[in-house]
Amino acid sequence: MQNRKNATSNPTQLFNFYKDSSLARMINFINEAVVVLDANGSIEMLNTNAANLLGNQRDALLGENLLELAVDETGHVQSQMMRCLTNASSNIIDSPPFEVRLATTEFKKSGLSVELSISSLPEELSSSNTLFLCILRDLTLHKAEYVSLKRKAETDYLTGLANRHRFADYLSEQWERCDEDNLPLSIIFIDIDHFKVFNDEYGHIAGDRCLKRIGETLSLSLPNRDTLAARYGGEEFALILPNCSAQTAQLLAIRIKRHLNQLSARHFTMLSNSKLTVSMGVATHDQNRYESKDALLKAADTLLYQAKSQGRDQICYL
Ligand code: GH3
Ligand code: MG
Ligand code: MG
Repeated sequence: MQNRKNATSNPTQLFNFYKDSSLARMINFINEAVVVLDANGSIEMLNTNAANLLGNQRDALLGENLLELAVDETGHVQSQMMRCLTNASSNIIDSPPFEVRLATTEFKKSGLSVELSISSLPEELSSSNTLFLCILRDLTLHKAEYVSLKRKAETDYLTGLANRHRFADYLSEQWERCDEDNLPLSIIFIDIDHFKVFNDEYGHIAGDRCLKRIGETLSLSLPNRDTLAARYGGEEFALILPNCSAQTAQLLAIRIKRHLNQLSARHFTMLSNSKLTVSMGVATHDQNRYESKDALLKAADTLLYQAKSQGRDQICYL
């Protein structure tokens, strides 16, 4: 191949310079989005798949710098891309593919998520101007699928509340945060009283509807966006309240119980003429009261069972 250094960076001249090269012909047969870069990240060649992915004509993209197309709020992405080019030129081929958002015509602001891998090309293909082969893979579908699967993995199907997995993760996060910032952390456990009897009287479908309505009522009762409401088990719910004192948690528990009583009076009075009620346990970690998040959970659970053993339809706290 002749010396590219004598050619200009004018796109038309670039195109003419490379159009008959074996590399240019080869990349047109690769069923991937392929961009060939120089050592600074400037686009020297690209195939149709890459032009389609980047949402522009091939000619318009020639001479553009791929690094400058990266959406890079932190400034880390360009340096990572530069590092990959440097690694590739030293024949270090263990730079794994990495994720980048590229500001394409269509995705100017948020950027198109792509996985990018960079390899250096052998000299016989590069000529005196070292070239790098960069493969781009569109991650849009994978990302959408990931978001949807993640949401499903964290959500209780019946009530739409957080599930036990999410509850455990969020509690770990908030335990650490509150511990670090010396903030209180409260837990409220809520268990429906005699729910087995409700199911026996009305059947499981009505029971499911009841659980759903309770979930909705809990969601509407949350004091702020940091509070997480979860379905903890069958007919048991739990709230995590970061930066919430014992007194605030107790007042919230009273308010939630009132909302649930109103719901029950309107929709769930049992044939046996007893109302559907709940028992609750409220525990708060403050001033190093509990040594672990599990100890805090155990305390809330013990208080819930105290409420049960004292006759149900009540809240217990320390
Ligand atoms: P307690 O006051 O002691 O809590 O009595 P309980 O009857 O509520 O508690 P128990 O643990 O004996 O029974 C729980 C019931 O909750 C039995 C089970 O059928 C019902 N349940 C659990 N999950 C679901 C669900 O997803 N849908 C319906 N409909 N019922 C459920
Ligand atoms: Mg129960
Ligand atoms: Mg229970």
